[in-house]
Amino acid sequence: MNKDYYQVLGVDKTASEEDIKKAYRKLAHQHHPDKAGGDEKKFKEINEAYQVLGNKEKRSQYDRFGSSFDQGGFPGGGAGPFPGGFPGGFPGGASWGGGAEDMNDIFESIFEQFGGGRRRTYSAGRDIEVIQEITLEEVLTGVNRHLSLKTYVPCAVCGGLGYDKKQGTSQCTTCRGRGEIKVERRTFFGNFAQVRSCPDCGGSGELPKAPCNECKGKGRAIGRKELDVQIAPGIEDGQIIKLSGAGEAGEKSGGSGDLYVVVRVKPHPVFKRQKADLYAVKSVNIADALLGKELTLEGLGGEKLKVEIPKGFGLQEKLRVSGKGLPRFGGGARGDVYITLDVHLPKHLSEKAKKLLEDLEGEI
Ligand SMILES: [Zn+2]
Ligand SMILES: [Zn+2]
Repeated sequence: MNKDYYQVLGVDKTASEEDIKKAYRKLAHQHHPDKAGGDEKKFKEINEAYQVLGNKEKRSQYDRFGSSFDQGGFPGGGAGPFPGGFPGGFPGGASWGGGAEDMNDIFESIFEQFGGGRRRTYSAGRDIEVIQEITLEEVLTGVNRHLSLKTYVPCAVCGGLGYDKKQGTSQCTTCRGRGEIKVERRTFFGNFAQVRSCPDCGGSGELPKAPCNECKGKGRAIGRKELDVQIAPGIEDGQIIKLSGAGEAGEKSGGSGDLYVVVRVKPHPVFKRQKADLYAVKSVNIADALLGKELTLEGLGGEKLKVEIPKGFGLQEKLRVSGKGLPRFGGGARGDVYITLDVHLPKHLSEKAKKLLEDLEGEI
C-alpha cells in the first residue's frame, strides 16, 4: 500500500516544486485515460502522488511520516475526470467528500478530539448475574424458571423517556428546532463541514418542558423485573445462559445490561454424571451375581431399567444400559447408564448355607 510518490512521478526527493509540477504534467498527459494508450490506473496514481508532493505542507508531512495518509485512499485523488484539462494545483481540501467510510471515521475522531462531538451520555444498565440450581431430573427434561429480580426497570410513569409528555415540549435552543447542527472544523485535512444530529434533543428539535417527577429525568427506577428463562435439556453444571438486554435498565437512551443465568446442577443421590452419561452403583448379593440374575434399577426419569448380568461378568466391569442417560445439550441421542455392581458377602452363614457352599466349593 505504501507507494513512493517520488518514484511515481519519476523525480528525486530533492526535486523543486517546479520540477514536480513539470513531471506531473508530462506524465498526466501521457497517461490520460481519454488518450490513445492512456492508462486510468496509472493516471490515478500520478494524481494521487501529485496531490501530496504538489502541496508544500502535505509533501513535508509525507517526507516525515512516509505515505501515512494514503491509507484512506485519498478520495479526491483521481476520483473522476478533471473537466477542462488538468488542475494547476491541489484541489481545495473541502472538495474531496468521496464518502469513503474510513475517511469519515477519521473526521469523526478529529471532531471528538476537538470537542465537536459533544454527546450527552446516559449511564448504561449494568449486567446482572443470577444462579439457578436445578436437579439432575430437570437436566433430563429441561425446565422453565420464573425469575423475579429487584433491579432498575424503565420508569413506569414516563416509560423511560425521562420527561413528562403531558407537559409538552419546547423548541430546542441548541439546534433552534432543526434537529441537526452544522459543525465546522479546521483540521489537518483542511476545513470541513458536517451536519449532524443535534446532541441535545437527539434530533427531534424539541426539548421536554419538565423532567418526569417519578424518575427525576433518569427514565428508570428500581422495580421488579419478571421474566422466564428456559433451561434446555442436557445443560451442564456451570453453564451460563445469556439473555441480552434483560439486565438492569439504563438511563434514558443508555441501553440495558445483559442478564446471565448461571446454572448449577445439584448432586443426585443415585446418579453421578459425566456429560450425557450417568453412573450408578447397584447392590447385589453374591448369589444373584453368580447366577446372572436380571437386575432392575429405577432410571432418572422413573423408568424401569432392566439389565442382565452376563455370564463371566467381571466385577470391575460396568453394566451398560444404552440410551437411558441424559439428552445431549443442543440435541443428539441420549447418553448411556453405567452400573457398577456392589456385591455383598453375607455376614453370617446358616448351617444350611455353610453346607451348600462346601458342596459348591467342589463344583467350581
Ligand atoms: Zn419517569
Ligand atoms: Zn436540538
